Amino acid sequence: DRIIASTAAPDDEAVDRAIRPRRLTDYIGQQAVREQLEIFIGAARGRAEALDHVLVFGPPGLGKTTLAHIIAQELGVNLRQTSGPVIDRPGDLAALLTNLEPGDVLFVDEIHRLSAVVEEVLYPAMEDQQIDIVVGEGPAARSIKLDLPPFTLVGATTRAGLLTSPLRDRFGIVQRLEYYSVDELTTIVNRSAGLLALAIDDDGAGEIARRARGTPRIANRLLRRVRDYAEVRADGHINREVAAAAMDMLKVDDNGFDTQDRRLLLAIVEKFDGGPVGVESLAAAIGEERGTIEDVIEPYLIQQGFLHRTPRGRMATRSAYAHLGVAPPPRIEDPTGELF
Ligand code: ADP
Repeated sequence: DRIIASTAAPDDEAVDRAIRPRRLTDYIGQQAVREQLEIFIGAARGRAEALDHVLVFGPPGLGKTTLAHIIAQELGVNLRQTSGPVIDRPGDLAALLTNLEPGDVLFVDEIHRLSAVVEEVLYPAMEDQQIDIVVGEGPAARSIKLDLPPFTLVGATTRAGLLTSPLRDRFGIVQRLEYYSVDELTTIVNRSAGLLALAIDDDGAGEIARRARGTPRIANRLLRRVRDYAEVRADGHINREVAAAAMDMLKVDDNGFDTQDRRLLLAIVEKFDGGPVGVESLAAAIGEERGTIEDVIEPYLIQQGFLHRTPRGRMATRSAYAHLGVAPPPRIEDPTGELF
């Protein structure tokens, strides 16, 4: 598996428990999100009401789950956690909803993956605090309405566009998480190192931050691997040289790209003359699923300006050629005529 995968790996979990921020004040970066939530949570608490439903979207590993836990903690309520693909039948969701205490947070990760019939249960639950359940079978079947306690649904998804509009419209608070700056990630690495009692200096933390693709989960994972390296190959102290050597060994380069990123860029440049190339052809060329390219590999490459998304497909930018050490063509022009 990719060391720089932004999705959670099994061995992330144990460490995660120790370093996951618990309060809004420990949540680093995402200033706009923090400021707004502080106000909305404060107001809901003041009125002794449930917080309005919250949709959090952004690439994996940026802190959506963490934020859901923090919201519950700051509200002083319980958090029940589930995810879209786990809820098979409407009855499963009904059971979760009817077991909530007043004010509780129900966190639904990957909410875009709820099936249509399950999603239908959510509409009246979110809007009117009611669910319709069918009891009995055949001609004797009838539908009864159940009242729910006031609750807050926190939904997380990688892209807001994946949600159906009736679902999206039922969230009163919509927050988008952004990639973190190197400075913010340096703070996160330093904080995690402190909690794990690791010896690290600012340059070492900065080197890890620089290669962490704007993603706290990756920063924390790189930190753990660099720690291993520092313990075995050095005296345990993490400085810039040790961090750089460890990540070079892991084949995570200066930009935080791994072999998979380089393969994607190289395929566009070598097999498709720099593009534009459709995502399906690209997926076939590098043996990846389309969804992995769209959700995991490509967002960071686009955000960093190595990949350009045009109406006719993906194109490699000058930075991509430079990174690969390949001479770029004299003109790089996208199909809409924009030069870049
Ligand atoms: P997501 O649900 O978006 O995939 P998580 O909430 O699981 O991401 O976050 C991944 C890890 O990154 C968490 O374990 C947490 O320790 C760390 N993390 C995320 N956001 C922040 C933040 N703002 N400040 C500090 N650490 C963070």
